[in-house]
Amino acid sequence: MANKPHVLILGGNFAGLGAAQKIRDCAGDSVAMTVIDRKAYLDYIPNIPLEIFEGRDPAVTMNMPLVETLARDAIGFQQAEVLGIDLESRRVEVRPSERPGAPAYDLTYDFLVIALGARLAFDEIEGFAEYGHTVTDAFHANRLISYLRNAYQGGPIVVGSDRFEQGKRGRPAWLKTALAACEGPPVEVSLALAHWLTQHGKGSAKNITMFTPAGLIAEDAGEKVVGQLLDVAGKMGFGYVNKTEGIQRLTADGIEFRDGRQLPAELKIVFPNWKPHAFLKCLPIADEVGFIVTDMQMSNPDYPEVFACGDAAALTVPKLGAIGHQETEVVGRQIAKRVGKMTPEEADKPWMPAVVCIGDMGGGKAFYIHATSWFGGDIQELRMGHLPYAQKLAYKEMFFANHGRMPNWGLPLAEWSAETVKI
Ligand SMILES: Cc1cc2nc3c(=O)[nH]c(=O)nc-3n(C[C@H](O)[C@H](O)[C@H](O)COP(=O)(O)OP(=O)(O)OC[C@H]3O[C@@H](n4cnc5c(N)ncnc54)[C@H](O)[C@@H]3O)c2cc1C
Repeated sequence: MANKPHVLILGGNFAGLGAAQKIRDCAGDSVAMTVIDRKAYLDYIPNIPLEIFEGRDPAVTMNMPLVETLARDAIGFQQAEVLGIDLESRRVEVRPSERPGAPAYDLTYDFLVIALGARLAFDEIEGFAEYGHTVTDAFHANRLISYLRNAYQGGPIVVGSDRFEQGKRGRPAWLKTALAACEGPPVEVSLALAHWLTQHGKGSAKNITMFTPAGLIAEDAGEKVVGQLLDVAGKMGFGYVNKTEGIQRLTADGIEFRDGRQLPAELKIVFPNWKPHAFLKCLPIADEVGFIVTDMQMSNPDYPEVFACGDAAALTVPKLGAIGHQETEVVGRQIAKRVGKMTPEEADKPWMPAVVCIGDMGGGKAFYIHATSWFGGDIQELRMGHLPYAQKLAYKEMFFANHGRMPNWGLPLAEWSAETVKI
């Protein structure tokens, strides 16, 4: 162990856990690994909205223990807050987060994988604490469950995203500018909430207006897919407002957009700017916003021993777990190559990101999107019905049962069945 290269992985959610497991798969026991996270569980974020509309606390149903999961692959875990990175001395400053009052320590690395996700900047939306709701974590999920049960009066609802600030430095020419970070969730929440309103006699899709700072909501899914989705949504009675330029403020009575428009709203469910962690922004490996610059091998061109994957990586746009998952495979292969466990031919296989998203629609139905058009490919698949819903539940069950290790056929099977079987 002492002489093995040490891979330090910052962040232990989808990208951090996935990278650790892929590195172990590809590099075997030729590296020692440590994962650092401030919490000792994986938060299965994509199913939080579904849990909300079923009235279940996602802290009970969506948290997977991380420490024993990693131990299965002889990967160490330390529960600590990452404070800073010294690229020249290859050290990371951390402060243990189990008990307050701990001093800071330095950890060393031979390879560093930055998988710290992003900061969801709700605190930069004026009026959010007083008047806003969201679905991005268990705290806010339970707050919304309680509001829907006890306070909602049947008035107008808005669901949508604030403006996303994407960096430019080091960005490849093919990667477009996204004005919203991740818009599958607002579409999912709108559809599932409409079903909930009908089911509870509190209204219908007509109560809800979806909004986006972009020209087209969820534009990374492709014009054809979004056109079909908007067609369905329009027929159901949803309102739709685009090109808002972002959220100016939330008030007791509604929402004000940066372009000056306003909408009345009793309930405001919003998604913020995905902002990089402040301590990353000053580093030479980051773009001007703070996302980590990498090439397609997910390593930084100036510090090739530093990798990034998941939401923290500048290449991950939109900020989707599915894209992070694809990137973890690349990181696994690259580190295996560096320690002589994989040939360059195998490790450097070219790849193209793909948007894969399964969103709950309520009533046991879901939509499934598989698209590469955002990245210059020609796939734009949309399916709606009971099968994608069953897949959404099955994927989570499989993820937990396999301790986060999705078998290689997991995603392709989901793709195959959703695209070819109609129920
Ligand atoms: C409501 C919702 C629904 C979604 N649905 C889908 C979906 O259907 N499909 C899909 O592909 N994607 C979906 N996404 C996006 C997906 O959740 C993210 O892309 C994914 O979680 C990113 O994984 P990550 O590991 O890169 O970052 P994160 O999941 O954000 O994890 C980052 C980890 O780093 C840790 N961390 C951060 N800073 C520090 C620090 N300073 N010190 C120590 N630890 C730290 C955190 O505790 C966390 O564990 C959804 C997102 C939301 C909000």
